[in-house]
Amino acid sequence: PAGLYFVATPIGNARDITLRGLDILASADVLAAEDTRSLRRLMEIHGIPLGDRPLISYHDHNGDRARPRLLAALAEGQSVAYASEAGTPLIADPGFDLSRVAAAEGHLVTSAPGPSAVATALTIAGLPTDRFLFAGFLPNTQSARRKALAELGQTKATLVFYESPKRLAAMLADAAESIGPDRNAAVCRELTKKFEEVRHGTLAELADQYADATVKGEIVVLIDRGSSTNISETDVTQALEEALVSMSV
Ligand code: SAM
Repeated sequence: PAGLYFVATPIGNARDITLRGLDILASADVLAAEDTRSLRRLMEIHGIPLGDRPLISYHDHNGDRARPRLLAALAEGQSVAYASEAGTPLIADPGFDLSRVAAAEGHLVTSAPGPSAVATALTIAGLPTDRFLFAGFLPNTQSARRKALAELGQTKATLVFYESPKRLAAMLADAAESIGPDRNAAVCRELTKKFEEVRHGTLAELADQYADATVKGEIVVLIDRGSSTNISETDVTQALEEALVSMSV
């Protein structure tokens, strides 16, 4: 039926796409993608011909120009399938405006759910999953990053960040500094791929491990919530210092 179909695509292993996702890619009247080459490749791998259907590029930089064409197709009663370069659309990826406007114009907006690095990382990181806060990518400048980390560190939920390999060491060092060296964390790298790896440790341990390492691949960093019952050494030292200062006044 007519409507906008968000299709989740693999985050590494090409076989991580649902049967329904493939059906939608095979049958939609119009295809749209953040990266048309990767969608083409995925369809080739799964033997889905594009035929003479349009494959429209839709990403952060051309969204305003490309959106009217997709909305026009919806208005004509066509089905439009949209895929990110990898994973679930809208999760640290384009698609929000398209989803919002299509729904506001009364079109069916639906999703063929599938992989996302957030859920994949949470599943294997060994940190609590009952409450989590997906914080996406941190700001680029160190001062903004530290401020964001200090604020987020107060949240009573597992924090989930997307991070680049180049910035990982700096991010972990900033997190150890702003949130506390003893907070538990995990670094998940290359999920669903050949060199998938999960490292557990405190922020200080992980910052130390990655300090001089050359890291490659895609990364999710998870940080445990602070626990009021689990008083860290830093907390004790700080409390002692404060007590001494107040005594000396
Ligand atoms: N929409 C995607 C999703 O649902 O996960 C995320 C897109 S975002 C632009 C790309 C970031 O997601 C990467 O920089 C990395 O932090 C994370 N990511 C994506 N695939 C990953 C993988 N296989 N392993 C670890 N992290 C991954």
